[in-house]
Amino acid sequence: MKHKNYPLKKNTFKSWDKVFENPRPIKLEEFQTGSVIINKKGAINPEHPLAQDIKDEKLEVPILAYWIHHEGQGDYLLDAGLDKSYYQDPHGGIKNPLADEFIQKKDQNIKFHLEKKRIQLKCVFLSHLHPDHIAGIRELPKKIPYIIGKGEFNEYKPDDFGNFLKNLKILYEIDFSKIDEIPPLGPSVDLLGDGSLWSIFTPGHTPGHISFLVNGFNGPIFLTMDACFIHENIEKKIAPSSYTWNIKLAQKTLEKIIRFLKEYPQVKVHCGHE
Ligand SMILES: [Zn+2]
Repeated sequence: MKHKNYPLKKNTFKSWDKVFENPRPIKLEEFQTGSVIINKKGAINPEHPLAQDIKDEKLEVPILAYWIHHEGQGDYLLDAGLDKSYYQDPHGGIKNPLADEFIQKKDQNIKFHLEKKRIQLKCVFLSHLHPDHIAGIRELPKKIPYIIGKGEFNEYKPDDFGNFLKNLKILYEIDFSKIDEIPPLGPSVDLLGDGSLWSIFTPGHTPGHISFLVNGFNGPIFLTMDACFIHENIEKKIAPSSYTWNIKLAQKTLEKIIRFLKEYPQVKVHCGHE
């Protein structure tokens, strides 16, 4: 697999105010591709000074992918979720006892959702390379571009995570070090060139983690992806610690998101596993 820099369009917006003055014909729909059991102790960092009595409590949370439809520019996917191999096998066919276990009902897999809606994808943007976000690639078309944040691939461990990227010839990477910052979120990329869909560098959960913003006519929606697992991360102002590459950086990123949501109360927020 080759790595190539994703070609970036020049950003003409200097502030989120300017972006939100210019909503675009773009819509978002959520697909649940399975679920996973996480522990609240860890989904919320129990070591954080603000953490009080975080319970040892199991939560079953959804594994999501988002379908983006832009009236003029077509269909996109944010994350791939799970393919159908998890329906009969919680390890999704990965022969490694360390492989994560997921739960999947019949017809929850990503291909089923796409075929049911007759969606022809233009490309797939990936928040990060954890299995519950990319396993679905195994049943998606390989001729379209797949895009991640630069630095993310270094942490990808096919032996533990599964060889989900095996049949991709090129992996496109967004180099956030070369991108203008829009405060308070930092480096933000106008993915479709008209201010409709944004990727925002939110490292910590993984090295190259990205979140997304959808700027449609019903108001802007911020998709944290795994920068927050559940809404309680925002309410308590405490980032996750489980499955997290750099807990300190994840906390810093969460605080940046909270600042943004406070500054722009018109923005709705969706957390990665909620
Ligand atoms: Zn993750």
